[in-house]
Amino acid sequence: MSFLQKLIHSKKEAPPTEEEILQQIIAGQDYSVLPEFPYYPRAYEDGTIHPAEHAVCACCGKEVPCLYGGHFHFLEHARGQQFQEVCPWCIASGAAARKFHGVFCKVKDISDVPEETQALIRERTPCFDGWKEEQWLSHCGDMMEYLGTAGYEELIACGSAEFLDALTALAEEEVSWDGGKAESVLKRLDGDGSPRAYAFRCRQCGIITGYYDYKP
Ligand SMILES: [Zn+2]
Ligand SMILES: [Zn+2]
Repeated sequence: MSFLQKLIHSKKEAPPTEEEILQQIIAGQDYSVLPEFPYYPRAYEDGTIHPAEHAVCACCGKEVPCLYGGHFHFLEHARGQQFQEVCPWCIASGAAARKFHGVFCKVKDISDVPEETQALIRERTPCFDGWKEEQWLSHCGDMMEYLGTAGYEELIACGSAEFLDALTALAEEEVSWDGGKAESVLKRLDGDGSPRAYAFRCRQCGIITGYYDYKP
């Protein structure tokens, strides 16, 4: 084939459409093993991804044994759409974020974490259930692993001075206007209630820390 013929030939091949790319990603999903979420390994245990019978994923259309119906934030142009439950395979591959035009978790103002890692949290990791808009923490230039919610007992039991310091600082900010005691805020922390803390572990240095919020 001459150079010119090649050029003409290559021009005939249109770039794949959004839908074609999506179907290609879905076709590559291996349904024989549950996908792992390195930044949220407990997503299957804590109910974020829940077992479902005869459930169909809104992204790949396959019958799957479990689904995710948690937080999803639509990008500007996709506002007003309805997010439907999707399977963990479509989360891990990025197919669901692509199909619904959004992110599972917002990641803000983190300049020392590689963009690729931030994208993994936003687009390919299920989001934990925060009362207010979730904050996925980072440490040592990496996003942290989300462990779960914590109450006062868990906070003390985990023995992390960093976690206690971080929550004390937040509580001090909160009580600064009414003269209350930060400790009394911390003692009200309830892993199943409000306020509740969210615990993260650094994948690099191992420290545990987090933040708390209230039910709106
Ligand atoms: Zn799916
Ligand atoms: Zn660290």
